[in-house]
Amino acid sequence: MNKLAKLDHQFVWHPFTQMRDWLKREPVVIVAGKGAVLRDLHGREYLDANSSIWTNLHGHNHPKINTAIQRQLKRIAHSSALGVANEPASLLAEKLVQMVNPKVGRAVPSAPLLHTRVRRGEDTAPYLGKVFFSDNGSTALEVALKLAYEFTRRTRSAGSLPASRRRIEPRFLSLAGAYHGDTVGAVSLGHIDLFHKSYSGLLFKTDKVMSPYCYRCPFNCAKPERADAREYRKCNLECVGLVEKKFTAQKQKGNPYAAFVFEPLIQGAAGMIPQPRGWLRQVTEIACGHGTLLIADEVMTGFGRTGVAALVKARTGMAMEPRFYKRGYGLTLFASHREEVQPDFLCLAKGLTGGYLPMAATLTTQKVFDAFLGEYGEFKTFFHGHSYTANQLGAAAALASLDILRGKPSVYARQNLEKNLHDELQALWSLPNVGDIRQVGLIAGIELVRDWRTRKPFDLRERAGIRVCEAMARRGVLTRPVRNVIVLMPPYCTTKAQLQKIIRAVFDSVCEIFGRGGV
Ligand code: PMP
Repeated sequence: MNKLAKLDHQFVWHPFTQMRDWLKREPVVIVAGKGAVLRDLHGREYLDANSSIWTNLHGHNHPKINTAIQRQLKRIAHSSALGVANEPASLLAEKLVQMVNPKVGRAVPSAPLLHTRVRRGEDTAPYLGKVFFSDNGSTALEVALKLAYEFTRRTRSAGSLPASRRRIEPRFLSLAGAYHGDTVGAVSLGHIDLFHKSYSGLLFKTDKVMSPYCYRCPFNCAKPERADAREYRKCNLECVGLVEKKFTAQKQKGNPYAAFVFEPLIQGAAGMIPQPRGWLRQVTEIACGHGTLLIADEVMTGFGRTGVAALVKARTGMAMEPRFYKRGYGLTLFASHREEVQPDFLCLAKGLTGGYLPMAATLTTQKVFDAFLGEYGEFKTFFHGHSYTANQLGAAAALASLDILRGKPSVYARQNLEKNLHDELQALWSLPNVGDIRQVGLIAGIELVRDWRTRKPFDLRERAGIRVCEAMARRGVLTRPVRNVIVLMPPYCTTKAQLQKIIRAVFDSVCEIFGRGGV
């Protein structure tokens, strides 16, 4: 075994990994990357089919991001945000605010076009004008959670409650199967027993509501077909009714939900579970009707991952006109906006730096910000932050990445990739162990089952997803499954030929593991 592989075996503990299995074989040790390709120390090449766990946007070793980091490095790598400000972080905050409050053309800032949320007395969408930086997806959620908690305690009247219950205990609602990170607050918002159950004693209680997992929905009475279950489902969106019920029941307890936390358009670690068109819009309207804050976790879905769409036409599904491409105006890079939903908190990480450096941002409104203002002695300060908050290298990488993202070549690359992904995925329907293929923009989940006709799942102990991904790695394609769902989420620069190789690897690996006729 190579020396570096030996060192890994001796000293490194890998995340989400059964280390007994890991130690059985020589690990792939990556030493370089270019575009969508990773190279190991033996010179073998692999396609990065999950963008290095959903982080990389434009490919590895991108000259523009490299240059931006090198330029910043000549000045300073890091100085603390506790007590001092810095140049790239301030510029990045400004840019993020411009991007998450999109306007078409020269619309005036006070009249955002996203008329999503009609709360009582408010007929414009929240303006996300304040940015709190942190380090990763979990911390981005942790920040939103704490801010929403404290904002609710400070602003909500407890008048309707009996005197014994006057203290407001803000309560959170999230989706079944939710995953929002691994820190204790983020885990409390999650609902995946496999990951979260062991820690239940450490967590605070949150509620969950059914998410629209059309493929396995008890209300979907359609027989399985060789198509995305969202297309052939037969239902009356009963899942929306359940959300309504949940909100009403909580309101009757005299303590409406403080915040509703969701991944927009598609839940990632839940199993790549996409939402049917209109679902997000409807449930967030219900939430807003109950005075509940919206926390959008766009850690995976942000920065164009859910495809290219013009803002105004996103919901109609109409094609975008090239004149909208001008420096990204009229384009939305965030999944919430595709359903014309503007949250009160927007959590970003992973792709923020183009997949180069750990950095995250939680955006929120002036109203939330104001609730933390006061004389020092009132102790209303948001007592939260990390050593590397607003790190200069990360911010410089993010600025370069956002610039690439808004340029025409990236827009065209994303459009092509989405279409190629759709076209190439069709070949997989011929496999009896492929139950559902779910694509949202540049993200695809392929659910493996015992037999597509019965939708019968594999037992997790059979490691079906893991075995297929191991077989794919032998074919030069790297990704990780979400349990029995194979995830494909390649960098935006992935060519058609590379994509064909990825799909071929899925096809051949499924055949290798289960046989052509299935199991
Ligand atoms: N939210 C979502 C939707 C995620 O997919 C993830 C990570 N997969 C996280 C939060 C946590 O991000 P991180 O691993 O950077 O803490």
